[in-house]
Amino acid sequence: MKSLKELVRPNIWKLAPYSSARNEYSGKTAKVFLDANENPYNKPLNRYPDPLQWELKEKISKIKNVPASQIFLGNGSDEAIDLPYRCFCRPGKDNVVAIEPTYGMYKVCADINEIEYRPVLLENDYQLSADKLLKACDQNTKIIWICSPNNPTGNNFNRDEMLKVVEKFEGLVIIDEAYSDFSSQKPIRDELSKHPNLIILNTMSKAWGCAAIRLGMAFASEDIINLFNKVKYPYNVNLLTQKEALDALSAPYEVEKWVNVLLLERSRLISSFKDLPICVKVYPSDANFFLAKMTEAQKIYDYLVDRGIIVRNRSRISLCQDCLRVTIGTKSENNQLLAALRQYE
Ligand SMILES: *Cc1c(COP(=O)(O)O)cnc(C)c1O
Repeated sequence: MKSLKELVRPNIWKLAPYSSARNEYSGKTAKVFLDANENPYNKPLNRYPDPLQWELKEKISKIKNVPASQIFLGNGSDEAIDLPYRCFCRPGKDNVVAIEPTYGMYKVCADINEIEYRPVLLENDYQLSADKLLKACDQNTKIIWICSPNNPTGNNFNRDEMLKVVEKFEGLVIIDEAYSDFSSQKPIRDELSKHPNLIILNTMSKAWGCAAIRLGMAFASEDIINLFNKVKYPYNVNLLTQKEALDALSAPYEVEKWVNVLLLERSRLISSFKDLPICVKVYPSDANFFLAKMTEAQKIYDYLVDRGIIVRNRSRISLCQDCLRVTIGTKSENNQLLAALRQYE
């Protein structure tokens, strides 16, 4: 890996971050807070929240087995996707490499930050080639984006192939594990301590059932987390979100129950899809959705919309011609989808 100083944008390396009242005094013993121009009334909403969300990070640390000092929390994964561009990539100069097809936000954030985005097509079975990704890099490549299990293809990538990218690349490798709770493969997060250039993304939006609260996470070396903390908005995760997340994280058995039900429904839905005459192929899934190649995706999509059932039309995405992406719902929702598809003609 190059040194962090070589990778970070010079203006960010030099940046003197905003220092909030809650940064300057963070002890627990004081009783009278007259430092932040808050209103003393309307408790508890009157007070600024903890800018570094320590209580929440301690809880996440136990569940994810990552030290709290190596956790960044943001306003959804969206924030954790945008920050690496702002910290590492010089607009108009640097570039990033990413698998293709994958989650759309990596490219949108590249475009917003004026960073060249270099997509590298997956192999035919949607597997990843470390050599191809590495070959697309040059001196100014700061980040390689990988998503595993991948959206929209649904599959995991081979662990050794991903680790080969991490080991050979001089810059940062970001692996988005938004769906790893649905996968039988060990998360790459477990390898974090061995790789200073690895950044892992997680979210409360999928298995944890909390898309509404907007809480995303990045796990990385302390140096990288400190950099994110320097650049983020001071109070980027609001108090209500921190509270709801603490509640949700106190009931991990709920999540386990949901995941088990969703995995059973996934198998059922996939085998039913395989029996549909209008389904050409179902791709293997390690996530809470699957990709299915249909005879005529656009027409089937429109037909479902007319019946109030919305799936994701991915048919214009590279390597996904005539594909629909189907999220696993409740048993009843899945049955409504199947009933509608069986009536399609
Ligand atoms: C859904 C999803 C996320 C979650 O994004 P949030 O902003 O945390 O809701 C992250 N990455 C991928 C690949 C996703 O599909």
